[in-house]
Amino acid sequence: MAGAVVGERCVLGQGCFVAARVRIGSGCRIQNHVSLYEGLVLGSDVFVGPCAVFTNVSRPRVRFPRNRSQYEQTVVHDGATIGANCTIVCGHTIGEAAFVAAGAVVTRDVPSRALVAGAPARVIGWVCDCGATIAKGAEPPQGPTACPDCARSYRRASSGGMERADS
Ligand SMILES: [Zn+2]
Repeated sequence: MAGAVVGERCVLGQGCFVAARVRIGSGCRIQNHVSLYEGLVLGSDVFVGPCAVFTNVSRPRVRFPRNRSQYEQTVVHDGATIGANCTIVCGHTIGEAAFVAAGAVVTRDVPSRALVAGAPARVIGWVCDCGATIAKGAEPPQGPTACPDCARSYRRASSGGMERADS
């Protein structure tokens, strides 16, 4: 729709809808049947699995319509993965390289590189930028943690998530 911004090298599958003023970074892959509603901002290299749902109104009521300024913002940071059939309730932030498991219902912010699953989604582990699990549990590991599949290493970030320790 008018005013939407789609970055370079993005792939949008069959049946996708991009509403007005949505912003999509470069290199994103949006799978089939995903509607991206106003208020959504995707970073770069974000994966959105088939049939994932983003909302943009917390308390929809047909009898009490609202104007556009009441749409709530949802931000998905660079490198994040939104699994198939997830629901991302509006007003939350998905951190850098976070991984939302298929079917999860996100009702709060997701820290960077957190692995979340379930309804409501809970943090069950921590993932590398490559997608491998680097730690289990709701809290990020105390010390530096290396990925078992690649050379990248991570440490706790002040934001509550994990950040690269080698860049
Ligand atoms: Zn890795």
